[in-house]
Amino acid sequence: MTTLETNAETELESTTLELSTLEHGSADPICAAAVDLARAAAIAEAGDSAVGEHLGVIPEGETVATHLFDCTMAGYVGWQWQVSTTRAHGTQRVTVSEVSPAPTTSALLAPEWVPWTERIKPGDLSSGTVVPTADDDPRLQPGWSGADDLAAELDPGPLQPVCWEPGLGRKRVPSPLGRTEAAIRWHRGEAGPNSAMARSAPADCASCGWMLTIGGPLGQMFGVCSNALSPSDGHVVAFDHGCGGHSDAPPVGGGVSVVDVVMDEVSNANLEYEAE
Ligand code: SF4
Repeated sequence: MTTLETNAETELESTTLELSTLEHGSADPICAAAVDLARAAAIAEAGDSAVGEHLGVIPEGETVATHLFDCTMAGYVGWQWQVSTTRAHGTQRVTVSEVSPAPTTSALLAPEWVPWTERIKPGDLSSGTVVPTADDDPRLQPGWSGADDLAAELDPGPLQPVCWEPGLGRKRVPSPLGRTEAAIRWHRGEAGPNSAMARSAPADCASCGWMLTIGGPLGQMFGVCSNALSPSDGHVVAFDHGCGGHSDAPPVGGGVSVVDVVMDEVSNANLEYEAE
């Protein structure tokens, strides 16, 4: 911020702009006339080559007016210099209170800032990448320590059986929110019932002999495929997922067709066999 002061009487004498030509509306006429003072302040801030033509005056208050200048700095297309001028009541002495660049609606602006923790998306994690989990991440909750109220374990209810995942040996375990988000993500993804593979499958994983069951609440809905020929081998699959490797998939087309054996008991053809 730059503050310049000048004697308003001198300013008014030297100004080359007539008040009637300024787009100042009801702006204070003395502040509005201080174009050269405002320009000098902008040049002092950014240099002579960065300040273009005077674009107008914005009335800010009874004795405050802001001058606008085109910003000619490289890379600042659509920006303007805003120079606020003011004076005390009863005096014609104008001072500059602030100089700042400001974007217009056509300005070239940087994209909105995205916190680093929100930039990493699924698929960005590669070998050597470390993504810390926040202490208060709602997708995780403290593991069971034995000191908690055991009432919930004694009566866990049908949907969230806490005793299935006590979390012994782990500092934190997935919370209901973390489990729910994972279940929705998996179910909507390639391991769910709506993938192209699942829609063309002869039957679902729930009835497949290749599916290994898993513990915990998600075991009510997901398992792990163990069919080496399946693209899901070693991956979590939803019960209503499926693929062509289903253990009970019927043979396609009945196998290789074989003609009936024909025995010639009529002709006298000599057949020669060569022992191998
Ligand atoms: S082989 Fe196919 S149907 Fe069977 S568990 Fe694996 S993905 Fe599911």
